[in-house]
Amino acid sequence: MEGDLTRLTAGAMADALRAGETSAVGLASTHLDRIESEDAGLHAWLHVDRAAALADAERADAELGRARADGPQALARLHPLLGIPVGLKDLISVRGRPCTAGSRILAGYVPPYDAHVVERLRAVGAVILGKTNLDEFAMGSSTEHSAYGPTANPWDLERVPGGSSGGSAAAVAARHVPVALGTDTGGSIRQPGSHCGVVGMKPTYGRVSRYGIVAFASSLDQVGPFARDVRDAAVLLHAIAGRDERDSTSAPVPVSDDLLALPASDDEAAAGLRGLRLGLPREYFVPGMEPGVEAAVRGAVAALEAAGATIEEVSLPHTEYGLATYYIVAPAEASANLARYDGIRYGLSLRDGDVLAGYLATRGRGFGPEVKRRIILGTYALSAGYYDAFYGKAQKVRTLIKADFDAVWASGVDAVVAPTSPGVAWRFGAKLDDPVAMYLTDACTLPVNMAGLPGISVPAGLSEGLPVGLQLIGRPWSEVDLLRIARGHEAITAGAAWRTVEPPGLLALRAGGVPTPAERVAALGADDR
Ligand code: GLN
Repeated sequence: MEGDLTRLTAGAMADALRAGETSAVGLASTHLDRIESEDAGLHAWLHVDRAAALADAERADAELGRARADGPQALARLHPLLGIPVGLKDLISVRGRPCTAGSRILAGYVPPYDAHVVERLRAVGAVILGKTNLDEFAMGSSTEHSAYGPTANPWDLERVPGGSSGGSAAAVAARHVPVALGTDTGGSIRQPGSHCGVVGMKPTYGRVSRYGIVAFASSLDQVGPFARDVRDAAVLLHAIAGRDERDSTSAPVPVSDDLLALPASDDEAAAGLRGLRLGLPREYFVPGMEPGVEAAVRGAVAALEAAGATIEEVSLPHTEYGLATYYIVAPAEASANLARYDGIRYGLSLRDGDVLAGYLATRGRGFGPEVKRRIILGTYALSAGYYDAFYGKAQKVRTLIKADFDAVWASGVDAVVAPTSPGVAWRFGAKLDDPVAMYLTDACTLPVNMAGLPGISVPAGLSEGLPVGLQLIGRPWSEVDLLRIARGHEAITAGAAWRTVEPPGLLALRAGGVPTPAERVAALGADDR
């Protein structure tokens, strides 16, 4: 069985562990070997800690052994993530391991504590393999803004994986781990999930504690799961969700054990779609959307309808302001959050004369261009005399965006179905010199963060051989319902030909000798960008 281990879902790995067909150490070392031999050409990972992972795995095996000795009931009580390899976006603090947030300014910084989500993963016995690549401070949609070089897309090594959680999405698609965590401030889980053909979920704002997560925009950031199937995503969400006193925005809303019990049977999952009312927002089929993407999304919607859901056209009239308001609110919060990187408290510290000179040198050389752009934008939007015109106004429009969704829920619609992204993954460099072109790709994901809602992207077919995501958006705290709908879609498309297609880049990675993503970008001519 060892040769096939990386093909299994986390759920199937958990079964194999309980049946004694493999061990947590076997799972960890198989995945670690794969990362070691293949990641040069992918660069999904920033740090991998084999010794720490194997130590975690040994503890998991000991717990499995004890449960096995105690009998089937003890085995059944174990958490499904016990012994399962997990990847973490490198802005999630793990005590004693580096945490760069994809930035030079955090080079050398080692957090002295675990993030809440890491404590939760440890409590259920998950095995943390390492930290995955991201756009610097999660600012970006392609992972090209990582100070440590970009990540490639397993479906086409000349393309971006999406971002900012591109490393986690690529690692799950490449079978380096069955599940991983990312963060989503404006789409950074759903969009790379869509571009890499995996499931990615942003929970309701407040569902998961942000304690120990490097902050980008505090009123928007949420941690969430990546997985290769919906049930795995639900199990990972179950492990990390819930109130934490150390994050006052984490909500005291109960986390349902139904997350652990999504239907295994396709028939049962498909039956759950009958009678649902799904809203199709006309504003999400944006001008410039790629025809192949629109066809795949409309095909997915037709399949949901054929399975017994009612599709109703709905309107979310303030969608067009999502982008403009996000690019006021997110940079404003970022400019405040990133003020803490002063060369004294964390990471990089350049001394260049007096205190101010040291501050300017550290920030000047420590931050990359996109981060500087956001700090300047945000500082401007918050400055005296402009605050009301920009930040105050954006907050008001944000309320209108939320009210659009409230009206849809009030009309009885169970969930909104939409594209995740208007296009497939683009080639390296294609949008790097045009920040606004990059920002525009997030038009379908940003409003969900502005409204604080849960959203999930699930694979919905291919366009020109590249994955397309279907986005499902729900009312606050409706994660279980949303995941059930996602599971229903997975069930009715279980036999689709595109589900059997392997990411073509994996063959090349396995064969070896492919250039690193950084080399690919360095080789780009001016015409390519
Ligand atoms: N792409 C968006 C941005 O650049 C969203 C990023 C995110 O969700 N972290 O801000």
